[in-house]
Amino acid sequence: MAGSLKTEGIVLRSMRYGEADRSLHLYTPQRGRVSAIAKGVRRAKSRFGGRLEPFFRLSLVLYEGRSDLLTVTSAETIAGHRRLREDGASLETAARACDAVGRLFDDGDPHEGVYHLLANELSLLDADPAKAGRANALAFRLKLLLAAGFAPQLSACASCGEREHLAGFSGAAGGVVCSACEAGAFDLGQGAHDFLFGARGRPLAETPQAEPRALAQAERAINATVEHHAHVRWRSVA
Ligand SMILES: [Zn+2]
Repeated sequence: MAGSLKTEGIVLRSMRYGEADRSLHLYTPQRGRVSAIAKGVRRAKSRFGGRLEPFFRLSLVLYEGRSDLLTVTSAETIAGHRRLREDGASLETAARACDAVGRLFDDGDPHEGVYHLLANELSLLDADPAKAGRANALAFRLKLLLAAGFAPQLSACASCGEREHLAGFSGAAGGVVCSACEAGAFDLGQGAHDFLFGARGRPLAETPQAEPRALAQAERAINATVEHHAHVRWRSVA
């Protein structure tokens, strides 16, 4: 299936490769994560300029030969997200968002919603770097689980359906659990529950704030979910 693929893409990772090349992980709407190589990028007169760096949203032409590795033949900037790079916290939050996407999906596992979610997160961090931080990072991860089809059950006990006395969380059960089903679960207090519920229901830009203890429990619930479904470990957001 040799030929050219025209697509948008966000640079998740960019590594030096050989003398002058770069090896990239890109996330695209229709192909999901793809691995690509860009030749001659590190030469002074490269036609790619500084565009093939993490967080760039690009309009790309990729050449697809016989190998799994695509070659970047053209790259135009849609959004460079310059402001988010000037702030330590937003840079770190953006790096963790790209890392979380790159770890959750292998090449060739497309979720168009994930592409839009990541584009939205980067654009938010660029427009308002003060939004960066733990609550935003957790809300992003929760929405990432939702877009990947791994959303935890939050409204009723994931084991028995009980709607009252929801006191714990179990990644294996798939969400919150009641006091009768809580064996093997860990505590999930009201603050953490309210945070997860609010973060799931609202746009990223309106992520609720919460106490550090509640955020720690929410993070544990999100981690338990991704570990159970995808056997992936995400870096701590703290
Ligand atoms: Zn139960």
